[in-house]
Amino acid sequence: MAAKAEFANVTVVDHPVIVHKLTELRDKKTRPERFRDLLRDVSALLAAEATRDLPLSPRRVETDLATTTGAVVAVQTVVVPILRAGLGMATAVREVLPDALEGFIGIYRDAETHAPVEYYAKVPPAENGRYFVVDPMFATGGTASAAVDLLNRQGVADDRITFLALIAAPEGLARFRQSHPDLPIYVAAIDERLDAHDYIVPGIGDAGDRLFGAE
Ligand code: URA
Repeated sequence: MAAKAEFANVTVVDHPVIVHKLTELRDKKTRPERFRDLLRDVSALLAAEATRDLPLSPRRVETDLATTTGAVVAVQTVVVPILRAGLGMATAVREVLPDALEGFIGIYRDAETHAPVEYYAKVPPAENGRYFVVDPMFATGGTASAAVDLLNRQGVADDRITFLALIAAPEGLARFRQSHPDLPIYVAAIDERLDAHDYIVPGIGDAGDRLFGAE
């Protein structure tokens, strides 16, 4: 089940299991181990929706009883978590996809300016491949823009990139749309707003800290 959001090309995947697990993720009493499991499950469901349009090519297979024609995914896929919190989504998304590669982009938000600072990038090239960038919190849109800009500089155009996040803030989506008007975004929820520290409200708090138990 997927609802088209009011932002162009933003899909809120409001499957009941996602709604249930997101509610548990929001609960500040949810411990890191459970938090990791919940985020993994939601990520797999988001991935199923976000990859609906992957092209297929026919393949003949022999079953025990007969030969039949099935189909296999016809493009190389690459999952790209934004470190650190994106790691909480990446494995689940990679495991949903057949033979996906994985790249990594390290970006942190400067404590004072909140501007994105890139510190690491290693993304495998995939000619005509599809890239799935994952980061649980789509807050100001600054980190998302920086990650997509980086892929653009590596020759990956927006029409080969999809962004998956757990929660987005309306301000971040609006800002991101100014630089990347058409890039598809899949989220479990669009929350109310950002606070003065650019955290999503009501959100889940700091996704990286909650995943890995840091304070
Ligand atoms: N990053 C987080 O981890 N949480 C937010 O609410 C915003 C950015």
